[in-house]
Amino acid sequence: MRTIGMLGGMSWESTAEYYRLANELVRDRLGGVHSARLLLDSMDFADMERLQSAGLWKEAGDLLAAKASALEAAGAELLLLCTNTMHLVVDAIEQAVEIPVLHILDATSARVRQEGLGRVGVLGTAFTMEHDFYRDRLAASGVDATVPERQDRATVHRIIYEELVRGVVTDASRAQYRAIIDRLVADGAEGIVLGCTEIELLVTAEDSPVPVFPTTRIHVEAAVEMALS
Ligand code: GLU
Repeated sequence: MRTIGMLGGMSWESTAEYYRLANELVRDRLGGVHSARLLLDSMDFADMERLQSAGLWKEAGDLLAAKASALEAAGAELLLLCTNTMHLVVDAIEQAVEIPVLHILDATSARVRQEGLGRVGVLGTAFTMEHDFYRDRLAASGVDATVPERQDRATVHRIIYEELVRGVVTDASRAQYRAIIDRLVADGAEGIVLGCTEIELLVTAEDSPVPVFPTTRIHVEAAVEMALS
């Protein structure tokens, strides 16, 4: 079994899911008392949030690249960046290490194509919904992405930063996400990418009339598959 390196803490609420899911999937595959071989770097999210809101993406990439190198030096054999948003600077990480970096969208778009869908709605941080990196990577895999309109994007973003990364999960926010999902579907979305690693703590398949793609689970499943292959 290969050792999975995780760049986490963005936020720890979802990194805890990465950790739990990786261990459960390895146990399910190997049985007995087997669990995942993992190295985790869990950063203080306040440090990253400061760089994000200041638009200091180069600095953020350098910081994550240094952490990735340290995980590789410590024995990680494949790497997960446990956040959609920070895939904005995944190139810096890929350049810093020789081990494979499993891109969260490669695993996700493969799953979307498996379902035979061509157009998805994306929910995520404003950075994920409004920068090009997410839509472009999906387009390169043949998946057309649409995002909510401006007011809905602000709601989705606010609930992530003011609630989900702080461990706050409420029925009121779930209702808001459900309404936004319905509007994306009315706009032609055939599936919904939960493009922020905390959203699946709030939203499940039951909250959507079309298939949802939970990026944390999909990312971990791809990593465990690779670790055990
Ligand atoms: N975990 C979130 C994501 O997947 C948001 C936190 C962050 O900005 O890294 O995008």
